[in-house]
Amino acid sequence: MNDIRTILHRTTRELTLSGSPSARLDAEVLLARFLKTDRMQLVVHPERELSDEEAAGFGGWARRRSTGEPVAYILSEKEFWSLAFEVDPAVLIPRPETECLIEEVLGVRGDRTAELRIIDIGTGSGAIGVVLARELPAARVAATDISDGALEVARRNAVRHGVAGRMEFARGDLFASFPGDFDLIVSNPPYIPDDVYPELPAGIREFEPRTALVAGPDGTAFHRRIIREGLRRLAAGGRIFLEIGEGQRGLVEALFGEAGGYDEIRFRKDYGGMERVAMARRKP
Ligand code: SAM
Ligand code: GLN
Repeated sequence: MNDIRTILHRTTRELTLSGSPSARLDAEVLLARFLKTDRMQLVVHPERELSDEEAAGFGGWARRRSTGEPVAYILSEKEFWSLAFEVDPAVLIPRPETECLIEEVLGVRGDRTAELRIIDIGTGSGAIGVVLARELPAARVAATDISDGALEVARRNAVRHGVAGRMEFARGDLFASFPGDFDLIVSNPPYIPDDVYPELPAGIREFEPRTALVAGPDGTAFHRRIIREGLRRLAAGGRIFLEIGEGQRGLVEALFGEAGGYDEIRFRKDYGGMERVAMARRKP
């Protein structure tokens, strides 16, 4: 039988057996998207029959999910800051925690008329840079990444969200491809310590890019470099916002201190209670 009720039931069981912690939700989200409808319609019309062709196509999606592939890669899309971002395996799937970094930036530099020069280092899908370009309509954003594949996705997301005219994209190591100074440096750099990486959930390890995640023995290899080089790349009074991982607050606080030249060093927790954003100002 190919009716929606039966298909959801069957898929939920398959995904549960394969270890998905959110089997029913995944099945609904995938089926709704596959049928180009919403989850409510699945509930309202559980008797709707899929054609054999539709059932086979959806079966392919369900099998991908049962191998652990993240839903966002199957849909080629992830919502971030209430916007739909294209994603593919070249980019990290944007995480909700990263919205905290955006909130902090807008809290300090939310003036929509300010002609800020912003650099987003390790832009990935473009999530941070694109959202800031939208929220700060007079700002210009330089977006950079070491991955050509990521930059292609980021460029398309800038077009999709109407900010490509104020964004520039270039491949390079951290600041290398953009000379000059900036009012804001923002980055969610890789920050998983080398020996923690093998313990990450298989869905992350097997599908998301390793270069987006791994960052040396204590996970602060990129913070170290960005904080040090950032001092030469920030205008006086300019600010830096970095996402951090578990247990990294002390390390990153020390890096800002050692660099000299920064003040107003602050940290912010995410909604799960973890220290997530590190911020500082280059002394005016
Ligand atoms: N900004 C996106 C976000 O918040 O969802 C992606 C962040 S992901 C954790 C880190 C990104 O840094 C990846 O896209 C990766 O390719 C990039 N990256 C890794 N090494 C880099 C380097 N040396 N220079 C610039 N970007 C780098
Ligand atoms: N928050 C991501 C994870 O837990 C890591 C992102 C990063 O390294 N910047 O997988």
